[in-house]
Amino acid sequence: MDKNKIAVRYGMDMQQMVLDLMRYADIKSELHDGMKIALKPNLVVAKEPSSGATTHTEILEGVLMYLKESGDYDVTIMEGSWVGDSTRRAFRVCGYDTLAEKYGAKLLDLKKDSFHIYKGYRVCDAPMQADYLINLPVLKGHCQTTMTCALKNMKGTLPDTEKRRFHAEGLHVPIATLGTIIKPNVTIVDGICGDLDFEEGGNPIPMNRILLGFDSVLIDTCVCHMMGIDTDEVPYIGLAAKFGAGSMDFRDDTLIELNDASNAGRLPLLSRKAKQLARYTDEREACSACYGSLIHALNRLDEMGRLGWLDEKICIGQGFRGVEGCPLGVGNCTAGCKSSLRGCPPRADQIMEFLMEHMG
Ligand code: SF4
Repeated sequence: MDKNKIAVRYGMDMQQMVLDLMRYADIKSELHDGMKIALKPNLVVAKEPSSGATTHTEILEGVLMYLKESGDYDVTIMEGSWVGDSTRRAFRVCGYDTLAEKYGAKLLDLKKDSFHIYKGYRVCDAPMQADYLINLPVLKGHCQTTMTCALKNMKGTLPDTEKRRFHAEGLHVPIATLGTIIKPNVTIVDGICGDLDFEEGGNPIPMNRILLGFDSVLIDTCVCHMMGIDTDEVPYIGLAAKFGAGSMDFRDDTLIELNDASNAGRLPLLSRKAKQLARYTDEREACSACYGSLIHALNRLDEMGRLGWLDEKICIGQGFRGVEGCPLGVGNCTAGCKSSLRGCPPRADQIMEFLMEHMG
C-alpha cells in the first residue's frame, strides 16, 4: 500500500476490519521473526471503550490475530495512562490482561519504564527500542486541542513528569516535536465510537470505521476532515508538518475505501449530547458512518453558534431512498431531496459547508 494513502474499512466486526486492513496493507512484508513489536493503544483512563475514551479490545485482538498468523514476534502492549489514573487498572477494565495472556503478549505500564532525553524531552525506552511500533489511537474530540488521534496518542509514551510539562508548555509544540522523535511504523485508528468533545469519554458518537495509515500527520489531517475541524484549530498538526513529522497533503484520492459504508451497520446514539443534536435531523435507517459525520458537523455548527440558523430538519438515511421533495438531505440516499449532499458517507467538513450554504 502506498505510504501516502489511508485505508478505511466501515463496519462493526472490528477484528475482521483490522484483519482486512492489515492484510490489504501487507504489513507482514515489513516484519520478520523475532522482531520486538510494540502496540500502543489509547488507555488514557480506566474506562471501557464504549465510553468513547479507549481503544476497543476487539481492535487490539484483531492486531494480535494478524501478528499470530504472520510470524513469530516478541509483542508488548504498552501504555501510560494520564496522570492520576492507573495503567494497570485500565488494562484490566478494558480486558487487555486477558487478551495478552491468550496471545502470549506482554503488558507494560510505561509509567514504570526507564527513559532517555530526545530533543529536550524525556521519552520512555520501550517504545523507542521497539523494532516496529503500531499506534492504536482513538478518533475523538479534546477539550484543549479540539481533537486527538495519531500524534497526540504518543503522549502516552512519556513519563508522568513529562506529561505535566507538555501541558505547562501548551501541548502544541511538544506534541509536534514528539511527532519527530517517535514515528510509529503504522497507525490503526479506532473510529468506532470516539467521544465528541473529551478525551476521557462520555459522549461516544458511532462512526463505525477503522483507518490504517503510515503518516501520523496525514492521518490527523484526514481525521480533522472527518470531524469537521479546520486543521488551523489544531496547531500541533501544522507544526508537526513544519518540523518534518509528516505531510498534511490530504486529497480526495488519499482515502482508499475497502468496502461500502452502507454495510457499516448501525449503533444507537449513545449520549445525551448526541441526542440533543439529533433533534435537527430526520433520520430513517441511517448508517452510523453517515449519521456520525452529521452529528460531528452539527456539533461544530453548535460551537460556532450557527445551529439555530437551520430552518429545516436534515434528512438522512437509507429510508429516504426514492423519497422525493424533502427540502434538505445528506448522503446519496437523499438524492430525491430538493437539495442533497452527495457522498456515501459524506465527511463532516463537507456537511458543514453544505449546511452553511443553506442557512438563512
Ligand atoms: S448515504 Fe445512505 S447508504 Fe451511504 S452511508 Fe449514508 S445512509 Fe448509509
